Amino acid sequence: MTGFGSTRSLEILPLIDWYTNDENLMFEAGVSYLIRTDQNTILFDVGYNPKQMDPSPLLHNMDCLGITLDEIDTIFISHNHPDHVGGMHFMRRKSFSLTSRQIPLHQKMVYTPIPMTYPHVNPVCAENPTVIAKGVASIGAIPTQLFFLGWTPEQALACLVDGKGIVLIVGCGHQTLPKIIARTEALFREPIYGIVGGLHYPVTGGREKFLGIPIEKYVGTGKVPWHPITMREVRDNIQLLKTREPQLVALSAHDSCDASLSMFRDSFQEAYKDMKVGESIVI
Ligand SMILES: [Zn+2]
Ligand SMILES: [Zn+2]
Repeated sequence: MTGFGSTRSLEILPLIDWYTNDENLMFEAGVSYLIRTDQNTILFDVGYNPKQMDPSPLLHNMDCLGITLDEIDTIFISHNHPDHVGGMHFMRRKSFSLTSRQIPLHQKMVYTPIPMTYPHVNPVCAENPTVIAKGVASIGAIPTQLFFLGWTPEQALACLVDGKGIVLIVGCGHQTLPKIIARTEALFREPIYGIVGGLHYPVTGGREKFLGIPIEKYVGTGKVPWHPITMREVRDNIQLLKTREPQLVALSAHDSCDASLSMFRDSFQEAYKDMKVGESIVI
């Protein structure tokens, strides 16, 4: 993929994730990131809102951080899971929502990994690699067969930053890191400068329990429940990523356990950034 331009600036501001240092902000086991480039402001996923509150934790945090819907020109949905589309209710309808009611999104571009709908909007299905904005592209949907959740195509965002390379932004990471790297390197000549977001390493447990069972450990890794993901696999993924010498690594805590976060932090040292709601990662 060439000729889609680049951006000098890139800022990734977690609006929803599992950790925050600011007691005024809400956190949950979901994802929503605000991405600012030279020319565009992209909302990457729309959080979980499991209690279907209105305003949702996402809208609450946007309000606290002084972000208005008007400044967002593009909405990017990584995959159709409840923690990324604003709840189970919207996932079942193959739709999404920023709060418990679907607020008007006139004039916004919307990109989804499978055909999805939204009132008075025509989302673009980015099943194949798709240019989204200047210096920003979807690497295209990569499907994974999940044991409980079934066939799950997920797309990640690639931002080409001037003089640095590709910064990948990932939702849950069901595609698996090796496939994300392989797809990125097949599409772009530039090196992988960084990777930010969820990669799904819930080895010691997940953030959510259902009937006392840490469900993320058994749901979503693409493995059978009787052989859940191990620390060895996390270590192998880290080794693979290290061969690319990334200058920025930030792992979302929404679908990885603290032991995996620690291993990433120790492995990438100063290149590693914690992802916290309300704290921008600026490249
Ligand atoms: Zn997720
Ligand atoms: Zn997911």
